Amino acid sequence: MIILKSKSEIELMRKSGAILRDLLLYLEEKVKPGVSTKKLDEYAYDYIKKHNAQPSFLGYGGFPASICTSIDEVVVHGIPSHRRLEEGMIIGVDVGAILNGWQSDAARTFLVGEVSEEKKRLVETTRESFFVGVEQFRAGSRLGDISHAIQEYNESRGFSIVRAMVGHGIGRQMHEDPQVPNFGRAGHGVRLETGLVLAIEPMVNAGTWQVTTLDDDWTCVTLDGQPSAHYENTVALTENGAEILTL
Ligand code: MG
Repeated sequence: MIILKSKSEIELMRKSGAILRDLLLYLEEKVKPGVSTKKLDEYAYDYIKKHNAQPSFLGYGGFPASICTSIDEVVVHGIPSHRRLEEGMIIGVDVGAILNGWQSDAARTFLVGEVSEEKKRLVETTRESFFVGVEQFRAGSRLGDISHAIQEYNESRGFSIVRAMVGHGIGRQMHEDPQVPNFGRAGHGVRLETGLVLAIEPMVNAGTWQVTTLDDDWTCVTLDGQPSAHYENTVALTENGAEILTL
């Protein structure tokens, strides 16, 4: 069941989203060779708490941290550890917060120092495809218009779309209906209307679209070991069009 949000509820989600927007800018400055992913998690936890919010990932389904840190071939759900970042890596940082009962969810993929041209192109294309998808987030259009636009943008540039995980509605719960795949048919799916709030999140691989989960039951990696990128924002459809709440 899709739960549409009122103007005042979107205002509350805007405040929740602003925390993640600023947190991700703060973490971007911290991403450098030598820093551990656990340290990044500590920065995130402290930042969210300082802003009177709760880290929604911590304890979710037993997840042990406030952020997911997904290096190179890790697609999503990487667990922060003592592993230190090295020059040339890419790292996806995914984070969620709850403020006054309202959720927000966002991710960026950061470059660690100097990175290969291929990785840079993957990260940039993934980010761009999010905005191409958001252009289709209009009252009267269909969900499949967003999905198709994201798929087309990435595949036409030689990259592949992860199927096993998708974006989602968001509100009082982190995962609400509808699911938002990054692949699909234009003109199909639910009709988009004002009050709909979605976490739109392309997950894009350099090689095969296939993924697998490691023995920790969380870490999702590409099957061929090639790099993967992730970019996500919480986006509300308002009377004035799509508004990105976490950017
Ligand atoms: Mg999400």
